[in-house]
Amino acid sequence: MKLYNLRHPEEQVSFAQAVKSGMGRDRGLFFPTEIPLLTDLNMLLSLPFVERSQRIIDAWIGDELGSDNVRRMVKTAFDFPLKLVKVDSQRSTLELFHGPTLAFKDFGARFMAQCLSEFAAGQSTTILTATSGDTGAAVAHAFYGLPGIRVVVLYPEGKISPLQEKLFCTLGGNIHTIAVSGDFDACQELVKKAFVDDDLQQSLNLNSANSINISRLLAQICYYFEAVAGIYTDIPPVIAVPSGNFGNLTAGLLARAMGLPVKRFIAATNSNDTVPRYLKNRVWAPAKTVATASNAMDVADPSNWPRVEAVFAAMKWSLGDLEGVAINEKQTIESLRELYACGYIAEPHAAVAAAALKKSLRTGEHGIFLGTAHPAKFKESVEQTLGLSIDLPPALLAVADHEILSERLAADFDQFKSHLLSVLNKKS
Ligand SMILES: *Cc1c(COP(=O)(O)O)cnc(C)c1O
Repeated sequence: MKLYNLRHPEEQVSFAQAVKSGMGRDRGLFFPTEIPLLTDLNMLLSLPFVERSQRIIDAWIGDELGSDNVRRMVKTAFDFPLKLVKVDSQRSTLELFHGPTLAFKDFGARFMAQCLSEFAAGQSTTILTATSGDTGAAVAHAFYGLPGIRVVVLYPEGKISPLQEKLFCTLGGNIHTIAVSGDFDACQELVKKAFVDDDLQQSLNLNSANSINISRLLAQICYYFEAVAGIYTDIPPVIAVPSGNFGNLTAGLLARAMGLPVKRFIAATNSNDTVPRYLKNRVWAPAKTVATASNAMDVADPSNWPRVEAVFAAMKWSLGDLEGVAINEKQTIESLRELYACGYIAEPHAAVAAAALKKSLRTGEHGIFLGTAHPAKFKESVEQTLGLSIDLPPALLAVADHEILSERLAADFDQFKSHLLSVLNKKS
């Protein structure tokens, strides 16, 4: 697999280089020079999830890593179930939250951990990532205890749910967590700066693990095939993706580019609606990030957007075919209630996508919204909205009264840098 830098197309790298460096020159995102087209789709859709996923990923990186390696990596990473659940006559949901940290980010993080240990070759590496909630937990768990790898996770203090914080800030060991006084964009900015800082690069051998890492996107392509395999008749489904940084939607578009029959995608956002506004008037005008109940989607300036446009350009699709729907807080609550009336307990992120899907579906269409997090991760807001009580699943029960081990820092690069250098150099 070859990839190029979207900002400097002359910079071309292998998959291994793209995974290890995260970003290219001037923070440019890597994008594949070619998108493989899958043949014999009906056969592929009839396969079990892991076997099908092995073939999908092999089509991208089998040439570089060898098919046996790819099969082993996919099997190790995807060791938890996913489920397609019918919600009402027109909508189903693909539940992607049955992994170790109860969110879809386990798919990308666990596969990326496989890739990085494959490429690390004995070198000590620091994974540095910013999270608005679920990435941090997924990455911390995926790398917890892996030899030669340290993980540093930044998150906006007070802006992720208490249980989410428990899930990844209590691990210790090779996992370092930092609560930044600022929003997610401020955390992301610190991470971006660290990656272009020579001192940090040299002393820590930095690696990115947020949704800009290409290995995560490859992993996420796989579950779109599972969604379509579950309901595909002769009418391709509409798929609504609850979006923040737009990695998930990018993966869906790549799946479609590989040949997966999808009628259209809906980019569903909360009130952080930069993309729906852009799709309407073609002016990119990020507003200030606002805090919502679907906090993992509180992103005003989504970093994967150039890749979304790159898929459309590569496939000569019209961006006009992408539907953007923003759902406000009131509509999110209504959607949660409406889903519950259908007998389904969702959480705010899925509820945003479900509401966007409902708005968009026409007669005769069937739609799937992605279920990106377990309702128990957003226990307080779900219980309050629906007036019920949700049992904690074992993964959360186990950490509910563990101590938070995070450091607190201001959103200031110089402070952040000296903290990183002192703490990490000491403990390495
Ligand atoms: C990260 C996340 C999203 C947004 O996914 P992107 O790939 O950043 O668009 C949606 N829902 C949940 C629960 C998440 O954790």
